[in-house]
Amino acid sequence: MLGIKTTTIQSQSLFEKAKNFIPGGVNSPVRAFKAVGGNPIFIKSAKGAYIFDEDGNQYIELINSWGPMILGHAHPAIEEAILQAAKNSFSFGAPTAKEVEMAELIIQMIPSIEKVRMVNSGTEACMSAIRVARGYTGKPKIIKFEGCYHGHGDSFLIAAGSGAVTMGVPDSAGVTTGVALDTLTAPFNDLEAVKALIEANPNQVAAIIVEPVVGNMGCVPPKEGFLQGLRNLCTQNGIVLIFDEVMTGFRLAKGGAQERFGIRPDLTTLGKIIGGGLPVGAYGGKKEIMDWVAPMGKVYQAGTLSGNPVAMSAGLAMLKILNENPQIYTDLEVITSQIVSGIKGVLKELSLNYTINQVGSMFTLFFTENEVYDFTTAKSSNLAFFGKYFREMLQRGVYLAPSQFESLFVSNALSSEDVAHIVATNREVLKLMHT
Ligand code: PMP
Repeated sequence: MLGIKTTTIQSQSLFEKAKNFIPGGVNSPVRAFKAVGGNPIFIKSAKGAYIFDEDGNQYIELINSWGPMILGHAHPAIEEAILQAAKNSFSFGAPTAKEVEMAELIIQMIPSIEKVRMVNSGTEACMSAIRVARGYTGKPKIIKFEGCYHGHGDSFLIAAGSGAVTMGVPDSAGVTTGVALDTLTAPFNDLEAVKALIEANPNQVAAIIVEPVVGNMGCVPPKEGFLQGLRNLCTQNGIVLIFDEVMTGFRLAKGGAQERFGIRPDLTTLGKIIGGGLPVGAYGGKKEIMDWVAPMGKVYQAGTLSGNPVAMSAGLAMLKILNENPQIYTDLEVITSQIVSGIKGVLKELSLNYTINQVGSMFTLFFTENEVYDFTTAKSSNLAFFGKYFREMLQRGVYLAPSQFESLFVSNALSSEDVAHIVATNREVLKLMHT
């Protein structure tokens, strides 16, 4: 039985208790449901396409841990890999065969990566990638795009998307002016603005970092020619092009967005799916650049738990499945397109002109009639409507990201009944909101 059938009393009392011990009661800001109103639900377990809260309510998953659970929850092969690995102890802080296998497989799946370093989160991957780009080029500044999120490293909390915009803290306290001055920002999909920044800062720009398909202002695809334009500008100006594929890596194709759009960045950052649900990130790219990383090169970066054997085993099990079963990507595309075309049908029935963006198994419904192609157009969405939509969908058993400025992530565990439930629930909720 899907939806909130009894109460959420356990979740509420856990949240009250958590607020005494954890800032805001949560370990990552968006989880607090501040942007959508109401209290967060506390999760007890999940299996396949479903997630269960502490009160025993069941929901269909459309967040999937913000991306990692592309095969649904607790996939048996990944569970088995974790259990087997754990028998040999949980951490050595020393090299292992597993991490060599992992690096080899990543390089096989993403050909622009010639060498790769494992870390523990997407944040670490992005922080490290820009440090290497700065070391390699000897230049100080980076260009990022308004509304893109690259983790909570100081340099990225300038015009950031995701929780940073949701919480109304586009520029975080605690980030120094010095750091902020080295981050230049341009609107996503605006090549002319990027050109102007490069011209205004001659020989100053080390890297351009971009989400090739943005997830952190909701799903926003690149316009035709935008990524190629960035590639050309970087090549012409000796700038390192970094694709942040923390969300899109192993999701939009087995080789990520760069495979889908046919663009070769110099560096790539990875996270989420790469750990199969355990905390893993990675950054990699051209040998010539990656050889700047210590102990070979002068750029320092390290980690006690990096390449952790249990996490590597989970990630390897995940990547092997994706690498060996290309059909998964076709299936994901079909399932997501069914949901999106179902919602589009509902919008038409109700004479609503809201925008839905979809790329592969990522999609977002924006409560605006504008085309959404950058942060300004994403922010034209009616956030009060989104809050209501979110709460009503949750009530009826569909677990969405609790913010307009997040993409949804589809898993291949959804059945045709789940898809039908998602579309029918959209019909019910959108109707209720517009009568
Ligand atoms: N880059 C992108 C594109 C992301 O979406 C995220 C997290 N949502 C990060 C970096 C940071 O990753 P993590 O939360 O694992 O630190």
